[in-house]
Amino acid sequence: MNITIPLFIAALLAATTLLSSCSAQETPSGDQTDAVADSVKVQKSEAEWKEELPHMACFVLREKGTERAFTGEFWDHHDKGVYRCAGCGQALFDSDHKFESGTGWPSFFQPAEGTAVLEEEDDSWGMRRVEVLCSACGGHLGHVFDDGPKPTGLRYCINSAALSFEKEDTEDKENAQGIRCD
Ligand SMILES: [Zn+2]
Repeated sequence: MNITIPLFIAALLAATTLLSSCSAQETPSGDQTDAVADSVKVQKSEAEWKEELPHMACFVLREKGTERAFTGEFWDHHDKGVYRCAGCGQALFDSDHKFESGTGWPSFFQPAEGTAVLEEEDDSWGMRRVEVLCSACGGHLGHVFDDGPKPTGLRYCINSAALSFEKEDTEDKENAQGIRCD
């Protein structure tokens, strides 16, 4: 009984978080991400984020929501380029580090740069997981697990809604080289 009560409370808290929507006027502040909030460069009020972001991006980035598997834009996306934060535009992941995880979420074995993301312990839903956040705006991206492929053995399981994609422009590079060779 001593174990089930805290689990029940944790589940209840998590459910409350999920139920709060991006259209709400206020969200409770002062949760465990205060340390992150203080360190991020892009500081906006929750009201500003709600105004700027599409509903799903807001739900994921600002309220730590999770999109349903196989519904996002990028789980089956194979173009070459850079995945940026949908909130602030910081480069987060590179298509060279993307792999097929079979989970229905875009998965990467490492961030574009080590400093692009922050990682925090996340004990919601009675599970111990490691949350992944954008280091520039503190937006929630997803979680990282240690069952990924080589060389890192990590699996960054990221919500498509938290990302925007910038395709690598190979044609322009070839043209630029051609001009230089003349
Ligand atoms: Zn960001």
